[in-house]
Amino acid sequence: KNNGPILGEELLRKISEHPCYDKNAQHKYGRIHLAVAPACNIQCNFCVREFDCVNESRPGVTSKVLTPEEALEKTKQILAEYPFIKVVAIAGPGDPLANDETFETFELIRNEFPEITLCMSTNGLMLPEKLPEILRTGVSTLTVTVNAIDPEIQAKIVDHIFYHGKVYKGVEAAKIQIKNQLDGIKAAIDAGIVVKVNTVLIPGINDKHIIEIAKKLNELGVYIMNVMPLINQGAFADLEPPTPEERKAVQEACEPYVMQMRHCRQCRADAYGLLAQDMSQMSEERRKVIKI
Ligand code: SF4
Ligand code: SF4
Repeated sequence: KNNGPILGEELLRKISEHPCYDKNAQHKYGRIHLAVAPACNIQCNFCVREFDCVNESRPGVTSKVLTPEEALEKTKQILAEYPFIKVVAIAGPGDPLANDETFETFELIRNEFPEITLCMSTNGLMLPEKLPEILRTGVSTLTVTVNAIDPEIQAKIVDHIFYHGKVYKGVEAAKIQIKNQLDGIKAAIDAGIVVKVNTVLIPGINDKHIIEIAKKLNELGVYIMNVMPLINQGAFADLEPPTPEERKAVQEACEPYVMQMRHCRQCRADAYGLLAQDMSQMSEERRKVIKI
């Protein structure tokens, strides 16, 4: 039965102002994504690495990578102009946990804006190891992309991982990543972080398996699950993306186990503003006015 995790007062407030965690917040509150994390430590078969991380972002766009100092400057300008932005997130363009700049940026932001909610997304490979650093920087909402909990299925989705100086492939790689994702999610929740899981729905590969993921997320105390449609590119260019009906059916099957996010916009790694108005796509003139 899906009762969801029990959250304290402070976290409930943060969630009620987070446009991705609370659908009622999406029209009132915004988020800013800071594109400070270009490197990635795995290769998903649906990812073309010159573009943003597909696990959290809209594929086919390339966000300009910022240094932590530039990211702080951009945040200052944008928050001054858009005070309804309550969440500062790092979601790529690669994996935030594969880039030290992620933590440098969060520290700069937290010192300047102690009230803001810090949020990040990851493929989870480095989550158990990096959790102390995540906690130290004060991240309170975390997204982990979990596309399978069965290594045989995961091995079809991720070509290889780069872990502790070594490349792993196939089922061996899948076992390491799944273990780290699930251990990391559990430890993050135990430490008081609110966790969202993104799952890319890949017809013919994980469509029948996603319900098993949802049951596991229920056990772990995950707050919300976001079933995202495959965008067919990279090694998966020949696969058919799911229809909206197929996605809806999967969401409905998972709903009894974990709350479903249905308003995801598959944002860019440099998106900001309200979810419905992606201001990173504003005109060049407008960008010049706010100097980004
Ligand atoms: Fe691409 Fe993101 Fe997968 Fe890395 S984790 S390969 S950036 S989709
Ligand atoms: Fe929220 Fe989806 Fe955009 Fe991530 S990609 S910020 S979950 S709407």
